[in-house]
Amino acid sequence: MFIEPSLGRKRQPEKRGQIEMICGSMFSGKTEELIRRLNRAKIARLKVEIFKPSIDKRYHEDEVVSHNESRIRSTPVDFAEDILLLSGDSDVIGIDEVQFFDNQIVSVVNKLAAQGKRVVMAGLDMDFKGKPFEPVPQLMAIAEYVTKVHAICMKCGDLASFSFRLSKAEEKVLLGEKESYEARCRKCFYEDLQ
Ligand code: ZN
Repeated sequence: MFIEPSLGRKRQPEKRGQIEMICGSMFSGKTEELIRRLNRAKIARLKVEIFKPSIDKRYHEDEVVSHNESRIRSTPVDFAEDILLLSGDSDVIGIDEVQFFDNQIVSVVNKLAAQGKRVVMAGLDMDFKGKPFEPVPQLMAIAEYVTKVHAICMKCGDLASFSFRLSKAEEKVLLGEKESYEARCRKCFYEDLQ
Protein backbone atom coordinates (compact mmCIF):
# COMPACT_ATOMS: atom_id res chain seq x y z
CA MET A 1 0.00 0.00 0.00
CA PHE A 2 1.22 3.48 -0.85
CA ILE A 3 1.83 5.63 2.22
CA GLU A 4 2.16 9.30 1.50
CA PRO A 5 5.32 10.65 3.16
CA SER A 6 4.85 13.33 5.77
CA LEU A 7 4.29 16.58 3.94
CA GLY A 8 5.67 19.92 4.97
CA ARG A 9 9.23 21.05 5.56
CA LYS A 10 8.84 21.82 9.23
CA ARG A 11 8.08 18.24 10.07
CA GLN A 12 11.09 17.00 8.06
CA PRO A 13 14.22 18.17 9.85
CA GLU A 14 16.23 15.68 7.83
CA LYS A 15 15.18 15.13 4.22
CA ARG A 16 14.85 11.52 3.20
CA GLY A 17 14.76 10.49 -0.41
CA GLN A 18 12.04 8.22 -1.71
CA ILE A 19 11.06 6.72 -5.07
CA GLU A 20 7.45 6.12 -6.11
CA MET A 21 6.38 4.42 -9.35
CA ILE A 22 2.82 4.73 -10.66
CA CYS A 23 2.30 2.32 -13.55
CA GLY A 24 -0.44 0.77 -15.63
CA SER A 25 -1.91 0.61 -19.12
CA MET A 26 -3.13 3.50 -21.19
CA PHE A 27 -6.32 5.16 -19.89
CA SER A 28 -5.59 3.88 -16.36
CA GLY A 29 -5.28 7.31 -14.73
CA LYS A 30 -1.50 7.21 -14.12
CA THR A 31 -1.02 10.89 -14.90
CA GLU A 32 -4.05 11.89 -12.80
CA GLU A 33 -2.53 10.06 -9.82
CA LEU A 34 0.85 11.72 -10.46
CA ILE A 35 -0.77 15.16 -10.61
CA ARG A 36 -2.78 14.42 -7.46
CA ARG A 37 0.35 13.58 -5.45
CA LEU A 38 2.30 16.56 -6.79
CA ASN A 39 -0.52 19.00 -6.09
CA ARG A 40 -0.69 17.78 -2.49
CA ALA A 41 3.06 18.37 -2.13
CA LYS A 42 2.54 21.89 -3.51
CA ILE A 43 -0.21 22.55 -0.97
CA ALA A 44 2.33 21.55 1.70
CA ARG A 45 4.58 24.26 0.20
CA LEU A 46 7.22 21.85 -0.93
CA LYS A 47 9.17 22.85 -4.04
CA VAL A 48 7.94 20.65 -6.90
CA GLU A 49 9.54 20.28 -10.34
CA ILE A 50 8.00 18.18 -13.12
CA PHE A 51 9.70 16.70 -16.16
CA LYS A 52 8.68 14.65 -19.16
CA PRO A 53 10.58 13.30 -22.18
CA SER A 54 10.48 15.72 -25.11
CA ILE A 55 9.36 12.83 -27.34
CA ASP A 56 5.87 13.20 -25.88
CA LYS A 57 4.51 16.18 -27.79
CA ARG A 58 0.92 15.08 -28.04
CA TYR A 59 -0.37 18.01 -26.08
CA HIS A 60 1.09 21.28 -24.85
CA GLU A 61 4.87 21.48 -24.99
CA ASP A 62 5.35 22.47 -21.38
CA GLU A 63 2.45 20.88 -19.55
CA VAL A 64 1.66 17.41 -18.31
CA VAL A 65 -1.91 16.94 -19.46
CA SER A 66 -3.86 13.85 -18.57
CA HIS A 67 -6.74 12.38 -20.55
CA ASN A 68 -9.24 14.03 -18.26
CA GLU A 69 -7.55 17.38 -18.86
CA SER A 70 -6.11 18.01 -15.41
CA ARG A 71 -2.81 19.73 -16.03
CA ILE A 72 0.36 20.90 -14.38
CA ARG A 73 3.39 22.74 -15.77
CA SER A 74 6.33 20.54 -16.75
CA THR A 75 9.71 20.83 -18.44
CA PRO A 76 10.36 18.67 -21.52
CA VAL A 77 13.88 17.17 -21.51
CA ASP A 78 15.81 15.25 -24.19
CA PHE A 79 17.87 13.06 -21.86
CA ALA A 80 17.40 11.59 -18.38
CA GLU A 81 20.59 13.34 -17.18
CA ASP A 82 19.00 16.72 -17.92
CA ILE A 83 16.72 16.12 -14.93
CA LEU A 84 19.74 16.06 -12.59
CA LEU A 85 20.95 19.37 -13.99
CA LEU A 86 17.55 21.05 -13.80
CA SER A 87 16.18 19.74 -10.50
CA GLY A 88 18.04 22.29 -8.35
CA ASP A 89 16.88 22.54 -4.76
CA SER A 90 13.40 21.09 -5.32
CA ASP A 91 11.99 18.73 -2.71
CA VAL A 92 9.78 16.68 -5.00
CA ILE A 93 10.51 15.61 -8.60
CA GLY A 94 7.66 14.41 -10.82
CA ILE A 95 8.38 12.52 -14.04
CA ASP A 96 5.59 11.66 -16.49
CA GLU A 97 5.75 9.17 -19.42
CA VAL A 98 8.92 7.78 -17.87
CA GLN A 99 8.88 4.75 -20.22
CA PHE A 100 10.23 6.97 -23.02
CA PHE A 101 13.57 7.55 -21.25
CA ASP A 102 16.49 5.16 -21.74
CA ASN A 103 18.00 3.10 -18.90
CA GLN A 104 20.06 6.08 -17.69
CA ILE A 105 16.90 7.15 -15.88
CA VAL A 106 17.49 4.41 -13.29
CA SER A 107 20.75 5.91 -12.00
CA VAL A 108 19.38 9.45 -12.36
CA VAL A 109 16.42 8.61 -10.12
CA ASN A 110 18.68 6.91 -7.57
CA LYS A 111 20.90 10.00 -7.48
CA LEU A 112 17.90 12.29 -6.93
CA ALA A 113 16.73 10.11 -4.03
CA ALA A 114 20.28 10.10 -2.58
CA GLN A 115 20.04 13.91 -2.54
CA GLY A 116 17.00 13.57 -0.26
CA LYS A 117 14.42 14.22 -2.96
CA ARG A 118 11.07 12.48 -3.27
CA VAL A 119 10.73 11.19 -6.86
CA VAL A 120 7.25 10.37 -8.18
CA MET A 121 7.05 8.79 -11.65
CA ALA A 122 4.23 7.66 -13.93
CA GLY A 123 4.64 5.37 -16.92
CA LEU A 124 3.42 2.45 -19.01
CA ASP A 125 4.54 -0.90 -17.65
CA MET A 126 3.77 -2.90 -20.84
CA ASP A 127 3.99 -2.18 -24.53
CA PHE A 128 1.27 -2.96 -27.09
CA LYS A 129 2.47 -6.58 -27.28
CA GLY A 130 2.07 -7.09 -23.54
CA LYS A 131 5.86 -7.09 -23.01
CA PRO A 132 7.51 -5.20 -20.11
CA PHE A 133 8.31 -1.66 -21.22
CA GLU A 134 11.91 -0.86 -20.23
CA PRO A 135 13.03 0.97 -18.16
CA VAL A 136 9.80 0.82 -16.10
CA PRO A 137 10.44 -2.72 -14.72
CA GLN A 138 13.80 -1.52 -13.35
CA LEU A 139 12.21 1.59 -11.86
CA MET A 140 9.59 -0.60 -10.19
CA ALA A 141 12.42 -2.63 -8.65
CA ILE A 142 14.23 0.34 -7.09
CA ALA A 143 11.08 2.15 -5.91
CA GLU A 144 9.92 2.09 -2.29
CA TYR A 145 6.31 2.23 -3.50
CA VAL A 146 4.79 0.80 -6.67
CA THR A 147 1.17 1.62 -7.46
CA LYS A 148 -0.47 -0.21 -10.33
CA VAL A 149 -3.59 1.54 -11.56
CA HIS A 150 -6.16 -0.07 -13.85
CA ALA A 151 -8.29 1.02 -16.76
CA ILE A 152 -11.60 -0.56 -17.82
CA CYS A 153 -11.61 -3.12 -20.64
CA MET A 154 -13.32 -1.53 -23.63
CA LYS A 155 -14.55 -4.94 -24.82
CA CYS A 156 -16.02 -6.51 -21.66
CA GLY A 157 -15.92 -3.95 -18.84
CA ASP A 158 -13.54 -5.85 -16.53
CA LEU A 159 -10.45 -4.24 -15.04
CA ALA A 160 -7.82 -3.70 -17.76
CA SER A 161 -4.01 -3.86 -17.50
CA PHE A 162 -3.13 -4.06 -21.20
CA SER A 163 -2.95 -1.48 -24.01
CA PHE A 164 -4.31 -2.98 -27.22
CA ARG A 165 -3.16 -1.30 -30.44
CA LEU A 166 -5.93 -1.04 -33.03
CA SER A 167 -3.63 -0.20 -35.96
CA LYS A 168 -1.16 -2.60 -37.56
CA ALA A 169 1.85 -0.33 -37.00
CA GLU A 170 4.85 -2.21 -35.57
CA GLU A 171 6.91 0.60 -34.00
CA LYS A 172 7.14 0.33 -30.23
CA VAL A 173 6.47 4.02 -29.79
CA LEU A 174 3.32 5.15 -31.57
CA LEU A 175 2.08 8.41 -30.17
CA GLY A 176 -1.54 9.21 -30.52
CA GLU A 177 -4.43 8.49 -28.33
CA LYS A 178 -7.89 7.10 -28.25
CA GLU A 179 -8.02 6.37 -31.97
CA SER A 180 -4.96 4.08 -31.81
CA TYR A 181 -5.42 2.12 -28.57
CA GLU A 182 -7.96 0.41 -26.34
CA ALA A 183 -7.56 -0.66 -22.73
CA ARG A 184 -8.13 -4.41 -22.50
CA CYS A 185 -8.28 -7.08 -19.80
CA ARG A 186 -5.94 -10.07 -20.16
CA LYS A 187 -8.55 -12.29 -21.85
CA CYS A 188 -9.70 -9.72 -24.43
CA PHE A 189 -6.11 -8.55 -25.06
CA TYR A 190 -4.76 -12.00 -25.96
CA GLU A 191 -7.88 -13.03 -27.90
CA ASP A 192 -7.21 -10.40 -30.54
CA LEU A 193 -3.42 -10.13 -30.38
CA GLN A 194 -1.87 -11.11 -33.72
ZN1 ZN B 1 -12.12 -7.73 -21.40
